[in-house]
Amino acid sequence: MSNLFYQTRLRRPLLDRAEGVYMWDVDGKRYLDGSSGAMVSNIGHSNPAVLEAMRRQMEKSTFGYRLHFENEPAEEFARQIAARMPQGLDRVFFVSGGSEAVESCLKLARQYAVAIGEASRWKVISRFPSYHGSSLGALSVTGMSLMSAPFSPMMREMPKIPAPTCYLDRDDLSDHERGLKYARYLRDEILRQGPETVLAFIMEPVGGASTGALVAPDSYYAEIRRICDEFGILLIADEVMSGAGRTGQYLACDHWGMRPDLIAFSKGFGAGYMPLGAMVADRRIADAVIDSGGFIHGFTYAGNPLACAAGLAVLGEIDRLGLIDAAQVQGDKLSRRLQALMQRYEFIGDVRGKGLLLAFELVANRETMEPLPVGLNAHNRLVDLAYDRGLIIYSRRTRGGRIGDHFLVCPPLITTDEQIDEILAVLTDSLDAFAQETGLEYGA
Ligand code: PMP
Repeated sequence: MSNLFYQTRLRRPLLDRAEGVYMWDVDGKRYLDGSSGAMVSNIGHSNPAVLEAMRRQMEKSTFGYRLHFENEPAEEFARQIAARMPQGLDRVFFVSGGSEAVESCLKLARQYAVAIGEASRWKVISRFPSYHGSSLGALSVTGMSLMSAPFSPMMREMPKIPAPTCYLDRDDLSDHERGLKYARYLRDEILRQGPETVLAFIMEPVGGASTGALVAPDSYYAEIRRICDEFGILLIADEVMSGAGRTGQYLACDHWGMRPDLIAFSKGFGAGYMPLGAMVADRRIADAVIDSGGFIHGFTYAGNPLACAAGLAVLGEIDRLGLIDAAQVQGDKLSRRLQALMQRYEFIGDVRGKGLLLAFELVANRETMEPLPVGLNAHNRLVDLAYDRGLIIYSRRTRGGRIGDHFLVCPPLITTDEQIDEILAVLTDSLDAFAQETGLEYGA
């Protein structure tokens, strides 16, 4: 009996050690980390340069409270992050995780509106499905009703618009027109709410667990930015999962030249070496809030020197190993291999994503994209079959909307060609086993 508890009674084996893309449990069984944990371990496990940087920092100091001391790792990391951001997005606020990063964006946005005399603005429009975190503020903009339902009396549900799930659409529109169609939902919602009450729009530029690596048509991104500007609304990019190089650019937004006003980072930002995240803010926003009396917000562990030393070393390894290019190159290879699986398995309805943020979705009917019956429990079952065979993948069944069982295949950015072969071999074996036990057709 363990004293620990998480979400359910599901317990996994004890982790012993991890190196590169592999992890071993205490019984010596090896697993290929095909989802980088929860899209976290972007540079792989036990990277020697990061461990060495952490060791050096640990010998100097592991904590200094921000009201008493600045620290060099935080200063230098902030400097290097700012240098990678679009012009003017150069104010960095460190936190310890993704929910804290999102929460910080929501609160800074609100204080900015108050600071510039627009206190009527407080609504943050978001999308459904979407995931922005577990804390009550982040949950209020999360579009997954199952996650927020029990807490609804305790939070203020924010307005939601449909995420651009174009792959489910069966109309005659071009990609360009579809992008504009989904962006128009934002404009309509702003007008419905009253533009003077709307503070911000938050979105995952490439979707994460909620939508399974959803990418919108190119036209969507420019139009979203234009609409935010038209109504003086701040654009918050939740790059917690898509950021730090996973999609083949440091920011997923960079693929479309979309300049957000606020950015939330975590996951690959600290790459699992320390709990770490950040909000990056446009300087006009951060400075207005600071000058109006200060940002009424802060976490005790923010800017922790050990966490920042780890993050700085992770960034150094991303550069030294060329991992942003690798995400693109290896992502293209893995994506082609996943698409090829669609010939063997009629029940794979879609393969999507960008760089190494990739997903496939299982369906009952590829033409109509009807989901698999809930009773098949596909999202858990396929993960377990792969896990038994030594491959870790990540899944969700998002209800509300028509989204069904999707699976993220997002190995570390250091994944080699041989390891991609290994992922595909185990995945194929697992899909065969899934088809056999469910009676779904496959072959060839
Ligand atoms: N935003 C996105 C897009 C995420 O994927 C996640 C985590 N899955 C979060 C926010 C919340 O991050 P954390 O779990 O570190 O609080």
